[in-house]
Order: sequence, then structure tokens, then C-alpha cells
Amino acid sequence: MKYYDKLIFELSHSGRKGYELPANKIAGHALESIPESLRRSVPAELPEVSEPDVVRHYTNLSSKNFGVDTGFYPLGSCTMKYNPKINEEIAQLPAFASLHPLQDSDTVQGALEVYYNLQQALASIAGLSEFTLNPYAGAHGELTGLLVMRTYHEKRGDTKRRKVIVPDSAHGTNPASAMVAGLDVVEVKSKPNGSIDVEDLKPLLNDEIAGIMMTNPNTLGMFETEIMEIADLVHKAGGLLYYDGANLNPLLGRVRPGDMGFDIMHINLHKTFSTPHGGGGPGSGPVGVRKGLEEYLPNPHVRKDADGRFYVDFGKDSLGSVSTFLGNFGVMLKAYAYILTLGKENIRNVGPMATLNANYIKESLKDDYLLPIEGVCKHEFVFDGLKDKSTGVTTLNVAKRLLDYGFHAPTIYFPLLFHESMMIEPTETESLETLDEFIDVMHKVAREAAENPDLVKEAPVTTLVRKLDETTAAKHPVLTYKAMLAND
Ligand SMILES: *Cc1c(COP(=O)(O)O)cnc(C)c1O
Repeated sequence: MKYYDKLIFELSHSGRKGYELPANKIAGHALESIPESLRRSVPAELPEVSEPDVVRHYTNLSSKNFGVDTGFYPLGSCTMKYNPKINEEIAQLPAFASLHPLQDSDTVQGALEVYYNLQQALASIAGLSEFTLNPYAGAHGELTGLLVMRTYHEKRGDTKRRKVIVPDSAHGTNPASAMVAGLDVVEVKSKPNGSIDVEDLKPLLNDEIAGIMMTNPNTLGMFETEIMEIADLVHKAGGLLYYDGANLNPLLGRVRPGDMGFDIMHINLHKTFSTPHGGGGPGSGPVGVRKGLEEYLPNPHVRKDADGRFYVDFGKDSLGSVSTFLGNFGVMLKAYAYILTLGKENIRNVGPMATLNANYIKESLKDDYLLPIEGVCKHEFVFDGLKDKSTGVTTLNVAKRLLDYGFHAPTIYFPLLFHESMMIEPTETESLETLDEFIDVMHKVAREAAENPDLVKEAPVTTLVRKLDETTAAKHPVLTYKAMLAND
């Protein structure tokens, strides 16, 4: 059924007054094409509300939300940086936003050019040969990249390689993606300083290893200084190196994953290249590969012919498709605008600023909060809760108390290496004033924990809803509007 016919059908069957079309105008053939038994006999029960009610509902809801536009959001591992508003405007330009994915490529040359140029820009930032922009998120990029890894081994007839090494400090999506890609996970331990234990890695390397997944700097914000040795060991054992690019922010324009020996990587455009992504979307997880792996990238590709025209291509050795059409174009537009705005020179300043901000907070707070790993961190770092453990005040309590003071909580209880992990990432776009305010409040909460622990344990007290019962919320989620109304 054509899209338009379907729309008419849905409107005419919704039972909503005002939408009823004369019977002979209801695309008759559309109705006839649906078996009688499958046709709706009673109107769908849709909520009937007026436009002002809807507008007020969502406007009021939005003002209750915490976002990077309303306050400091030091969520580690997420890179909640300022997202220039002009990027949003560019993504909304009708010439981009109104395109249809089935349009002939002759009519979308401009959009394909942006797509192509972004592929090229990412390849040059990463020090890799070619990028696909098809995947929708970091985790989706991981799956795509691991399928490239798997396809590479399979096409060479090396079908025994079904294991992927993942550090114990890894983001949860790493082992999850490996499982979804049909690979088994082997864990490699971290040393007390948080970096991969090369001595623990060596015996894991054999002819069943497809590769290793790493992020550098790792999830503790520490740079893996032994990366060249690790790359050498893994390559000699016949494996490939996958780079989880979620932590690319501090390296932008200075260190390239390709130069560190990585063969495949993803980039989270919504983290490193500016797209608001609180609440789960939208995202984009482009995947890049080194020379020799390009042919396995997912279909379709965007290429440029000798006359400078852009076209959509399907490769025969590709691992297949991982997305509908070409991916999340709106996010790509923002990333492209961000890269062009900063340019080659300024993009080099992102990392040092993010690193300076993170180290400033870390050093300012380490008298009150337990710093398990000393040394210069990159863009983020981890505290193991409050230093004074005698009060019984947990990381969760501190996180909730921060809400009372108008700050979003850091990432808590990740990475799993410590019991009371509290992972802080200020990003490069926060001012010294904001960092100082945050530091003041963190000191204040530490003082409260010592003097009046119950106050902190009962937080939050100023928010619209108090502490939630997270177990019940996870076990009995309320997902329909009717149940929500019944609960009101
Ligand atoms: C965010 C993140 C991911 C997953 O990326 P999504 O875009 O959220 O799917 C993977 N690894 C690390 C280290 C991350 O921080």
C-alpha cells in the first residue's frame, strides 16, 4: 500500500470526527487490499485532547527536565558538552530536513556531498582509510565494527577466530556487542593503575582470537601508555584492534587511533561532535577501518566519481546492511558543522581544555573524595566515593544530594572496578566559574556527610519527586499512557 493511501486509511478508521472522508473518497482500492478479518471493526481508542492541553503538558514537562542547557552535566563517559545552537539550525534547514531517502541521487547532490566530506574528515581525524556513517549509535557502531572483524577473518578462511578480548574496565556495550556479533568474550584484567595488564593479556592471545576491544583513554580517563606494545602483540597473534571511540574527545587533532595501531573504530558523533543526546538519542556511530578492510564495510556507501558527482554504491564483499538507507543524517549535519566551525587548528584545543578541566576538578576534590588512581587524567576521572567511609554516605546519596543543589549527578557505579565509582567529565566547554561552583557544592556535600549524614541519605529534598524506588521501576515499568493516568 502506498504511504499516502495508508495515511488516508488510518485517518478514516481512527473514528476521529473531522477526519472522516466521504466513503467513495476513501482510497477504495487501499481498503480492499486488506483482508476483511484484519480490518478494524471498532475505532481505535486514542486520547482526545485539545492542542493547548498538549502544548501545556509538554512545555511544563520540558521545564522540569534537567538538560545541558539548564545546568552543569558532569556525566562521565558521555561527553555532555555544549552543542552550538547553529548546528541545530543547520540540521533543520528545509533543504536538508525535507529530503526523502528514496530521492534520486541527482536531486540530493548537496546532501551526499556533506555525507562524503564528513566521511573524509573523520578518516583524517582518525588516521584510518575509510568510514561508513550508517550506524545509529556507538553500540551499533561496535556491532558493525565487530562484524567487519568477523567478516575479515571469515573471508580469509580463518573461521576459528571467534573470541574477542575485552578489558574488565570496559563499557558494558563492548561485551554486549561482541555477543550480538556472535563472538565470545574473554576478559583481560586491569592493573592497579587502571591500564590493561600486558602480562595478563599475553597468555590470552592464540589462534582463536579475532581481536581486542579497547578505549584509549580508558574508562578511568587514563591513557594506555603501552598501547603500541599491545597492538604489536595482538597483530602478531593474527588479531585486529577495535577502538571504542567514545573517549576520542581528549585526543582530537592530536592523537589518531590509526597511529596507535587500531584497525577498526567507531566514533560517537553525539558525544565528540556535538549533538544533544540526553535521554537516549538521537545518535550516530560512524565506523572507520584501515586499508584492506574497506570492502567489508556495510552497504550502502557514498562515493564520488571522476566527474565529481556523488552516488550511492553497494559493494559485493560488504557485510550487508546495518541501517535503513544511510543513517541518521541530522546528526551528521551537526557533526560536519562542528568540525568546519572549529577547523583543523581549533579542534586541537578541545583535548587540552577538557583535560585541564578534568584535572582541575580532580585535584580540587581529592581531599574529600577517594582518588584510587593518582596521576594526570585525560577528559574524565573516577572517585571511589567519599574519603571518609565511616558516615555510611554512599555515592548514590552524594549523587542525589547534588540534584538539590542544581547539578546533574556524575555517572555512578561505573566503571565496575570500584565499589563506589563516581565518574566525572566536565568537558572543554564549561567555564571556570561553573567548575568552581561544582567544586564548592561537592565540598559542601562532603561536609554535610560528616556533620549530618541523614540529610544526605534522604536527598533529594528539593526536586519534584524524591528518591525513586529503582527496583520497582525496573521490575514493573509503567509504559502505557492509560496505566500512567491510573497511577496519577
Ligand atoms: C557511550 C559509550 C558507548 C556506547 O555508545 P552509545 O552511543 O551510547 O551507544 C560505548 N563505550 C563507551 C566507553 C561509551 O562511553
